Amino acid sequence: MIAKFDSIIELMEAFPDEQSCVDHLTAIRWRNGEYCPYCGGTEIYHFSDKRNHKCKACKARFSIKVGTIFEDTKLPLRKWFLAMWLITSHKKGIASTQLAKDIKITQKTAWFVLHRLRHAARTQSFNAPLDGDVEIDETYVGGKATNRHKGDPKNGPGTSGKTAVVGAIKRGGNAVAIVVKNTNTDTLDGFAHAVVSPVANSVSTDEHSGYRNIGRTFNHGVVRHSAGEYRKGEFHTNSIEGFWSLLKRQIIGIHHHVSPKHLHRYVSESAWRFNLRNIGEGERVNEII
Ligand SMILES: [Zn+2]
Repeated sequence: MIAKFDSIIELMEAFPDEQSCVDHLTAIRWRNGEYCPYCGGTEIYHFSDKRNHKCKACKARFSIKVGTIFEDTKLPLRKWFLAMWLITSHKKGIASTQLAKDIKITQKTAWFVLHRLRHAARTQSFNAPLDGDVEIDETYVGGKATNRHKGDPKNGPGTSGKTAVVGAIKRGGNAVAIVVKNTNTDTLDGFAHAVVSPVANSVSTDEHSGYRNIGRTFNHGVVRHSAGEYRKGEFHTNSIEGFWSLLKRQIIGIHHHVSPKHLHRYVSESAWRFNLRNIGEGERVNEII
């Protein structure tokens, strides 16, 4: 059952310890049925410790945190939940320094927590940041001609009802894409920190100036498309380009015109379908139900 709470006191009473938080996260994550975070299998064994599970299909042992934003931190879920409470109850937002003080974590941790939770709020999911080799790219969707790429200067946002979308993909893994208001440095840097794991091996982008600070945190490689360059060693953006064409085909195929107001739903639906691509049709249908 998913717990309900209306005040910070009730929150603390609903989550007196780590196990109560684990149970809550489990209820949310498996609200449409249990599944394996590695292969998507739906036959799951449960260990008696109430923390660990095992997939019948791929035999992987996992906790409910695997594949979520909570996986690669040691921060207790109780502090994550408190942080969520504080963030949502401060309408004007909360500074990382304040969050650090309020829940007794370092400012560096608070900074990551804020980025991750903003990402979770925007993507409406607790899916984990991407590691390995990651590609980030931005594109414009909607309006009359959905298939134009950002390379054409006439196709900037606002010129013909187009909406900016930024996406990231782990090569051979999952994709994340969200609708954004603009593609400036703040937006693209914030997106990168929210969706890419700090231990990612590399981050590839094109030469868009909004990516200029990525190299401060990540092993960043720039592919200069304007100079006809499409690969520089391990750096390229072929996977995300493939994802964009899939996304655009799906949006054009189903809807001739998508208003910017609803575009975010189609974008997350496309990413969701893409991420389930290795799961069999039967499981995918179950997942939808
Ligand atoms: Zn599995």
